[in-house]
Amino acid sequence: MVVGGGISGLTAARDLAQRGYDVLVLEATDRVGGKLRRGEIAGVTVDVGAEAMVNRRPEAVGLAAELGIEVVHPTTATSRVWTRGGLHPLPRTLMGAPLDLDQLAASGVLSEEGIARARQEPGLAATDVAGDISVGDLVEQRYGAEVTDRLVEPLLGGVYAGRARAISAEAAMPQLLALARRGSITTQGAALSSPSTAESPVFAGIEGGMWQLPERLVDDLGGRVVRTGVTVRGVRRTDAGFEVDTGEALEAAAVVVLATPAAPTARLLADLAPAAAGELTAIDYASTAVVTLAFRASDAAAALDTGASGFLVPPVDGRRIKASTFSFAKWDWVRRAGGDLLLLRTSLGRIGEEQTLQVPDEELVTASLADLADATGLTATPVDAVVQRWGGGLPQYAVGHLDRVARIRAAVATVPGLAVCGAAYDGVGIAACIASAHRAVADVAG
Ligand SMILES: Cc1cc2nc3c(=O)[nH]c(=O)nc-3n(C[C@H](O)[C@H](O)[C@H](O)COP(=O)(O)OP(=O)(O)OC[C@H]3O[C@@H](n4cnc5c(N)ncnc54)[C@H](O)[C@@H]3O)c2cc1C
Repeated sequence: MVVGGGISGLTAARDLAQRGYDVLVLEATDRVGGKLRRGEIAGVTVDVGAEAMVNRRPEAVGLAAELGIEVVHPTTATSRVWTRGGLHPLPRTLMGAPLDLDQLAASGVLSEEGIARARQEPGLAATDVAGDISVGDLVEQRYGAEVTDRLVEPLLGGVYAGRARAISAEAAMPQLLALARRGSITTQGAALSSPSTAESPVFAGIEGGMWQLPERLVDDLGGRVVRTGVTVRGVRRTDAGFEVDTGEALEAAAVVVLATPAAPTARLLADLAPAAAGELTAIDYASTAVVTLAFRASDAAAALDTGASGFLVPPVDGRRIKASTFSFAKWDWVRRAGGDLLLLRTSLGRIGEEQTLQVPDEELVTASLADLADATGLTATPVDAVVQRWGGGLPQYAVGHLDRVARIRAAVATVPGLAVCGAAYDGVGIAACIASAHRAVADVAG
């Protein structure tokens, strides 16, 4: 039995089925996929949740290949940083830590003082961090506050909707921490981290949208295995295994994998593994919204179709959007599907900025258009706009997260046949979620 029909739960179900289990997935909403979700804009189907997967680790692209899905890669268009009154090229970084200081200086992202401070990094001694530290504090110690504020913040804001000085380096950027402990990040990182190239792209996607990945998993499982519209309210241990309470029925199961976000998982574990439940309630979640916009190319190309794949916005600049992805420029399939429309999206909302989202949908569209106008000079009116809210969508990996996850897993392991997986544990990205599902099934099914 798997609770939760997102990418983690469906992967766990597939693994269990492959090991001969008679699997049932219970999903609370009326559709599978969780944060992988499709939407319609001006008659075109696009992703309104996750839109890419990491290509340089095997789990997500490997799963796509096993399901017979051909992956595509983003174009070579690159992102900008909207700061200090202009759009600047995003210099080469390791999640915001600069790897080419001359390129950083030329980008215009930092002030002269900021550049001067960043240039000291190669000469600094190795950073002495005994335990965990936030990514923002680590980078600030090495490069100065401006690098954290104008590069790490927008990059982490994109992935976690979190704040750089709160997110765990051990959990989110272990490579950065390892480099800093040995010496200069700039000097070592330049050799270690290779930029995205046609031969080795960093990201992959699916023609038509990432939402197809969970749908294909369901097809692969055989339709009847997944039940939507079923909220699991409780899980009890019995002599034979577990009894799962759906409010209307009690389902029996030999093994249970909870592939739900931290809060529902905590509720389901309250009696079974109270220590794990307590730890899970301490994991905070950020809410975000994705606004997808369609413009007539004839109205908007001059402002938008300039070779960039979009831009990131550091919170220090006080704007309302935190990023815009020019989907038409990033993905060839979106440009083709859009025809004479240019499709793009903005995202809003970081942890602690809930007020940004506490407005009607139209205001999120208005705020997006105002920021797009300021950043790019766009004056066109969109022909369509779609708002997708992701309330409590992204878990925050606070300093000490890895220890917390170890304590959760230890507490869950005291209940034979029970496991947890999903974005709350080992990484929020699709590939990491898939890896956590493999691990959960290996733990319960041997
Ligand atoms: C806007 C956005 C954009 C993102 N973009 C990317 C990206 O481009 N690339 C990337 O790699 N990652 C991205 N991510 C992160 C990634 O998409 C998610 O972390 C991942 O999809 C989470 O998968 P999951 O299965 O662990 O959880 P979820 O997708 O949250 O699935 C959990 C499921 O459990 C169900 N559920 C909850 N409680 C119960 C219950 N009691 N009973 C039954 N079912 C229940 C929920 O309805 C949900 O369907 C993005 C996330 C967001 C929010």
